[in-house]
Amino acid sequence: PEPPLKLPISPQVGEMSGRTEGGATERQPIGVLNLATTAIALGIGLPFGSIPAQKLINLTQYALTLGTTEIRLAPGRALLLLGLSPAACLSLHQTAAALGFVTDAADPRTRIATCPGAPACASGRIATRDIAETIAVENRDILDSSLTLHISGCAKGCAHPGPAALTLVGGENGAGLVVDGTAKALPAGYRPGYDAAHGIGRVAAVIRSARHPGETAAACLARLGAAGITEIYRQE
Ligand code: SF4
Repeated sequence: PEPPLKLPISPQVGEMSGRTEGGATERQPIGVLNLATTAIALGIGLPFGSIPAQKLINLTQYALTLGTTEIRLAPGRALLLLGLSPAACLSLHQTAAALGFVTDAADPRTRIATCPGAPACASGRIATRDIAETIAVENRDILDSSLTLHISGCAKGCAHPGPAALTLVGGENGAGLVVDGTAKALPAGYRPGYDAAHGIGRVAAVIRSARHPGETAAACLARLGAAGITEIYRQE
């Protein structure tokens, strides 16, 4: 009989690649999970909703050699690998991390919603995935659960139709910044697309220095105000 999973079930928000499935506050079943029985499972995620096919093939082939009996979809579009011994789970966890999968629920990439963008999508005006990767690597401390960051290749906003605290959107003028709005809103400031991560890095640096003890990133942003944030983003 199947081991029962004590995991929450939530509806999918949508199917577009990169969607965060409800935003940054929803925890995904990522990492080593203790099930109701003595069994354990490994939960992993695809960074921004996708990964090169060869990496998934490599992981599943290795998972088979370790005795994985089943792979299930889980909330937040995580994947659960079942039937593992503790040692096998540890080994698979390390391999998944080395291949670039999301293996930690606190991974800053889970805080960012981004579509494929340029060059994968013909409508994309900025390289959303590259920008997102750079922001995640450089600003892990700022990407707490309070913050929603959306990076959209164009104003269509496929990955996150709703408002986000910060939205970078590609357009004719480069990477526009929308504060507390959607990708369809008129950006208040721009940087060249290749330099967008630097602009968000500047905002992150101000949050780092200006926030009060215990204050979330979102609360600090609200205190700085849309005009102040936009100016920081635009500055050289
Ligand atoms: S938001 Fe624009 S660039 Fe991104 S996937 Fe949708 S149409 Fe393509």
